[in-house]
Amino acid sequence: MNISSESLTKLQSIISSKKITPWKKEQAVKHKAGGLCARCGSYECIPTQIATYEVTGITVLEKYCDECLELIPTPPITKSNNRNPF
Ligand SMILES: [Zn+2]
Repeated sequence: MNISSESLTKLQSIISSKKITPWKKEQAVKHKAGGLCARCGSYECIPTQIATYEVTGITVLEKYCDECLELIPTPPITKSNNRNPF
């Protein structure tokens, strides 16, 4: 996940702010993290984890927050499991 810890901290402060509207929070998460969590879809969590699955020969890529990644039933294929072409 190419989200810097700096923008992650900024996002977390946006989410916890009471002055910012939910819509603006959602836009901020979508913009900075590239989308919302595929499981809970909440702007209150930041999807920092990327899980990839092989579905009938197609690699599906989904974003999850830390909590949801632990709750998803199928263990994601991590990058270290990718076959090296050489
Ligand atoms: Zn989530």
